[in-house]
Amino acid sequence: MCSVVGVYGNENASKLCFYSLFSMQHRGQEAAGISSSYEAKIKTVKNRGLVTQIFSEDDFKVLKGDMAIGHTRYSTAGDDSILDAQPVFARYGLGEISIVHNGNLVNAKEIREELTKKGAIFQTNMDTENIIHLIAKNYQKNTLKERIIDAVKQIKGAFSLIILSRHKMFAIRDPFGFRPLSLGKIKSGGYIVASETCAFELVGAEFIRDIKPGEMITFEDGEIKSEMIFEPAPKQCIFEYIYFARPDSNVFGKNVYVVRKQMGRELAKELPVDADMVVPVPDSGVAAALGYAEESGIPFEMGIMRNHYVGRTFIEPTQEVRDLKVKMKLSPIVDKIKGKRLVVIDDSIVRGTTSKRIVRMLKEAGAKEVHMRIASPATTGPCYYGVDTPTKEELIASKMSVEEIAKYIEADSLAYLSIDGIIRAIKDKKENYCFACFDGNYPIL
Ligand code: SF4
Repeated sequence: MCSVVGVYGNENASKLCFYSLFSMQHRGQEAAGISSSYEAKIKTVKNRGLVTQIFSEDDFKVLKGDMAIGHTRYSTAGDDSILDAQPVFARYGLGEISIVHNGNLVNAKEIREELTKKGAIFQTNMDTENIIHLIAKNYQKNTLKERIIDAVKQIKGAFSLIILSRHKMFAIRDPFGFRPLSLGKIKSGGYIVASETCAFELVGAEFIRDIKPGEMITFEDGEIKSEMIFEPAPKQCIFEYIYFARPDSNVFGKNVYVVRKQMGRELAKELPVDADMVVPVPDSGVAAALGYAEESGIPFEMGIMRNHYVGRTFIEPTQEVRDLKVKMKLSPIVDKIKGKRLVVIDDSIVRGTTSKRIVRMLKEAGAKEVHMRIASPATTGPCYYGVDTPTKEELIASKMSVEEIAKYIEADSLAYLSIDGIIRAIKDKKENYCFACFDGNYPIL
């Protein structure tokens, strides 16, 4: 996942990056960082931890200037170490640059081997460092912009990139547009580019438009210039709607909450259940559950409470921590659910362990029946484009049928929303989206 932000032409650039990263913390909780450019020098502060834990007032005395970029990290490539926090900074033949990247490159290994053969030395395990090397070693080109274009034409996969130089900023989205990237105008001056538009609200920016798949925007001399550097072939990640993005964000031109609620409606149409109550798995199942309840006429109840002081379980790397966190995180409202037939709505099932624990917890609390309804198709394959889904072997739907999964999670019934149901919910063309972790049609490998 990860989030990226860039602010151009605002004297509080690094602080606006900080607030933007804070609003996009859900996209990565392992590390965060900000680079800013001031008097032709780039300064960077980054560390492990949450955004609010990393930056102090003193850091903003260092992070001066009216241009800054930032990143929150969720490790999908590289290690979970401070070295692999972003932005990635380098001094090279034309000066200084700093890069933030959301997405994964599918040819990172080949590029790294090639660069290493030619003598390049790497400091991190991140595929993002490849991009810096490709830019730095291209001494045939005299401008940074030409070098950036050459570099991104050599990489393949998912990249929403923001690059800061001493005097300019560049924002680029790969031709498939796997990850979102939006452009806004800040009311107090300047522009912002961010993974999600929820960042715009917080910093007082108005949404202008999404950066198009294949587009590069150059921020220079107070102006923005757009050019298409790739032939666009949109394959935007459908999981952004299902799980990742914040409901108050607009991604790929649509509000996430509205789409999720509509997915719940489609789920109710496709997979009705005779039940007393619709209960969401908080928080990611709430919008779909509201849609399901409205469509089915079955009352909506918050039958499960979430402790918000525990992070998202999906985001934690080890199984032990995940197990413990589920118990710490969710608890049933016994008086509400006792003796009731429940339709429980969740966004997805990954390994099945969380669903099993939820069903068991509800039954122990006295629920008469528990029918799981999932507002996405069965996840059967990993993601190679920047999302930390586990390996195929760990995905329960890759090795069990729906009936077998229902039995494993101890639910009275289980059903998933179809891909057609999602298409109806997003009211867009299927070919504009990536569904690879559901249907195995990987756009690039
Ligand atoms: S494989 Fe799945 S998670 Fe990855 S980009 Fe495609 S839809 Fe998104």
